[in-house]
Amino acid sequence: MKDRAMNESAVFALFGNPVAQSLSPLMHGAAFAQMGFKATYSAYQVNDAADVVHMIREREIRGASITIPFKETVMGFLDDVDKSASAIGAVNTIVNRDGRLKGYNTDGPGLIHDLAEWIAIRGKSFVILGAGGAARAAVLALIQAGGTPVVINRTVEKARALAESFGCRWGPPAEIGRLEADCLINTTPVGMFPETDRTPMETKFLVHFPCVMDMIYNPVKTRLLRDAEAAGCVIRSGVGMFVHQGAEQIRLWTEMEPPREFMRRTVLERLEKNGGD
Ligand code: NAP
Repeated sequence: MKDRAMNESAVFALFGNPVAQSLSPLMHGAAFAQMGFKATYSAYQVNDAADVVHMIREREIRGASITIPFKETVMGFLDDVDKSASAIGAVNTIVNRDGRLKGYNTDGPGLIHDLAEWIAIRGKSFVILGAGGAARAAVLALIQAGGTPVVINRTVEKARALAESFGCRWGPPAEIGRLEADCLINTTPVGMFPETDRTPMETKFLVHFPCVMDMIYNPVKTRLLRDAEAAGCVIRSGVGMFVHQGAEQIRLWTEMEPPREFMRRTVLERLEKNGGD
């Protein structure tokens, strides 16, 4: 694969709806160029999950990123789904191996890669805000890495269902004031551009969490992170996780190690130019 990949132009793509705002084409394009890897990476806005698989086969797309709203629905069209992606119930990566399409989820490995640069995970406690696909990926990955997550979500049935799938604690939003943990991770979209004045939790409780991470990366410093910094917490944006989940995709597609620092600088430059911080 490596030798073949170095000599031909390979086709990669992002599928979702919408896709115009995505930084994946910029990040992956820059990574491939830096690696000297002849490849194209295009974004396609499609209307249903069947179109994703049809286009991958028709255009001989070697690997794809999958984003909202197809991460769950595309699974039913694949030949195979990796065990972790199956447990999460969402796929963000497809690898095309000679016409056989397999789905993976790199959000969990991306999160762990990023957290490992920042804090210890084993033996540490985490409060996860949200119970969607990103939260499911986070909970599974944290448990596998020796952490103890507690899930807090607006829709309590979803918090309960997530917690029951992975054997962890859960609670309603009202419980947040009674919790303490080594790290709080926001997996909700609350505070994302353009609604940058919103925050997913009451500021007065942030002191219960010495470390606060937001999976949102636009803006780089969300209202949650600004409030947490003011409360004396150590903060981390979603940029690092975004870079590492993308880097893990490139590893799955090419079996090569991508230039993670270069990818991070590329993404940060664009976000800072757009006034994302
Ligand atoms: P999702 O499946 O739609 O889940 C969203 C979760 O947020 C749900 O649990 C939802 O609660 C909750 N939520 C939404 N709006 C809310 C509100 N106004 N108040 C309280 N809770 C609210 O989305 P996802 O795929 O998990 O993605 C979530 C976020 O993570 C997005 O911002 C995405 O960009 C980010 N993300 C970042 C990375 C990265 O690499 N940095 C990777 C993946 C995702 P209910 O259950 O009550 O609806």
